[in-house]
Amino acid sequence: MLFLDEAAEFGPRSLEALRTPLEDGEVRLARRDGVVRYPARCQLLLAANPCPCAPPDERDCICAPSARRRYLGRLSGPLLDRVDVQVAMRPLKDLGQVDVQPEGTATVRERVLRARAAARSRWSGTGWTTNAEVPGPVLRRRFRLPRAATEPIEAALHRGVLTARGADRTLRLAWTLADLAGRDWPVIDDVSAAMGLRHRSTA
Ligand SMILES: [Zn+2]
Repeated sequence: MLFLDEAAEFGPRSLEALRTPLEDGEVRLARRDGVVRYPARCQLLLAANPCPCAPPDERDCICAPSARRRYLGRLSGPLLDRVDVQVAMRPLKDLGQVDVQPEGTATVRERVLRARAAARSRWSGTGWTTNAEVPGPVLRRRFRLPRAATEPIEAALHRGVLTARGADRTLRLAWTLADLAGRDWPVIDDVSAAMGLRHRSTA
C-alpha cells in the first residue's frame, strides 16, 4: 500500500507520475540504453485536507473560497479518475453524534476474506486473483452484466460525467461490492453504490 498523507501538498509532477504505475502496475524509466521496468502494483491511498489552513472545525476556516478550490484542484481530474473510492470524512468530534454502533474489525476482516476468496475462485485459471487486476474488455464482454444492472453506467457515460476508464473501474468496484455482499453477480444496487463511491460524499 502506498499512503500519501497531505496529498494536495505534493507537487503536480509527483502526483501525475503516479498515473502510469496506477494503470500498468509498473514504473518505466527511459534511459539512453533502454527502458528499465520496475514492478509497482500497489493500493494507493491519498488523504487531503479540504483547505490549506485545515482547522479542527471547518467553520473556523480562514481560506478564501478561491484558495479552497485551488487546493483540492491540485489533485487533477485524470489522477482522481484512477481513484476508485472517494470519501469526505467527518471531523472526529462528530463521531460521538453518530447513532450507529460500528462493526468490529474481526467481523469486517471475516467479510473481506470471504469476498477475496470469492474473487479468487471466480478468476481461478486466468492468472488474476483480485477484481482490480481484471482488464476492462473481460468485464465488458465475457463477464458482461445484464443491461438492467449497468444502466447507471450507461447513463453517466451518455451524460459525459464518466470516462471509459471510470466505467471499467466502476464495474470492478461493483464486482467487489457483490463479493462483499455474498452475491454471485453484481446487481444494479452494486453498480449504483460503486458509482456513488467514486465521488466525494460524506462518510
Ligand atoms: Zn481553510
